[in-house]
Amino acid sequence: MITKDVIDGVISDYDLNRLSIATICSHSALQIFHGARQLKFKTIGITTIDRRVIYEAFPLAQPDEFIEVQSFKDVLDESVQGKLRDENAIIVLHGSFVEYVGAEGILRQLLVPTFGNRLTLLWEGDRARQRLWLEKAGLKLPKEFKGLSDVNEGCKVFVKFPGAKGGRGYFTAKGGHDLSVKLEEAVKKGLIESFDQAVIQEFVSGVRYYFHCFYSPFAQGGLRVGSGRLELLSMDKRIEVIDEAYRGLPDVPLEFFDYTVTGNMPVVIREAFLKEALAMGAKVVEASRSLFPPGLIGPFCVEAIYHPERGFIVFEVSARIVAGTNLYPTGSPYTPYLFHDWQMSTGKRIALEVKVGLETGRLKELLY
Ligand code: AMP
Repeated sequence: MITKDVIDGVISDYDLNRLSIATICSHSALQIFHGARQLKFKTIGITTIDRRVIYEAFPLAQPDEFIEVQSFKDVLDESVQGKLRDENAIIVLHGSFVEYVGAEGILRQLLVPTFGNRLTLLWEGDRARQRLWLEKAGLKLPKEFKGLSDVNEGCKVFVKFPGAKGGRGYFTAKGGHDLSVKLEEAVKKGLIESFDQAVIQEFVSGVRYYFHCFYSPFAQGGLRVGSGRLELLSMDKRIEVIDEAYRGLPDVPLEFFDYTVTGNMPVVIREAFLKEALAMGAKVVEASRSLFPPGLIGPFCVEAIYHPERGFIVFEVSARIVAGTNLYPTGSPYTPYLFHDWQMSTGKRIALEVKVGLETGRLKELLY
């Protein structure tokens, strides 16, 4: 694994007057480039040839320079990494970056500084470890079943597979028998090799909220965590195919029982609930600080279901910029209460943090 010391060495060789911000052209790249450009950073988009057109179609969010690759994984090639270092690049990781390049490749081979603490990849990508993290944070989590025998008849469960992306392939089952039939099918389809690879959770019903948080080690005032500030920048609700199944259709087609994310809707939450939303974000950061110092830095998302009797139950944390923030390129209903320059997207917030790190001589604290 590439250590923080090695990355610090790379930063020491950088020309800090000519920093650039780079990412893969996908996911939330328009927002990342747009924000970085507003703060006068040079931007670099690593793109496959077919995607270039998207970024050229939005000139104000187009990267200043493209690096064309055959496949996104090529970002790990020494030639691409060398170009990025020559441009004094800071990489912003996003969901597609991690999906296409892989956490292992990033941890073992990426010799270009990334924004935030890349150790979060170790804790986020593995479901069991992520659960340890969230338990340490003292959050309410969905009950998890050890195996088939643990599930009573009549109990509704939610099943996830390792490495499933964007909810694809998840399913619900009612009781042990139904569950075993569906797990057999999953083995036959090659989704899992054995039953023990499936994560079996209680099905939590309620209203979903996705809270977009940002932890800044530098910002003053506001909600203090450690010596930094926890900011609740915005929130959304994902639109998943399954949502359509609740439209009251008499015979819901089978393919609609699908949790794939297809879009995002803007959301504000009842003001009294902000207390809990902030507390969940703060607890996630606090726990991360002791599990993998210096802990989470920058954007992350707390994903929770509000149950009228049980309150907020957290089913996942995404430890980086999430695509739901794409709703707010010019700020959210909350950013005017955090920034005088309130047109603050998450992409711009990242660039602002880099700028402050640069101006205060503390850039290395933000990068790994
Ligand atoms: P995830 O991959 O954990 O982000 O989950 C994808 C989607 O599955 C979420 O957006 C929820 O709609 C749903 N989901 C995840 N966990 C549960 C659960 N325990 N109970 C009910 N729905 C869930």
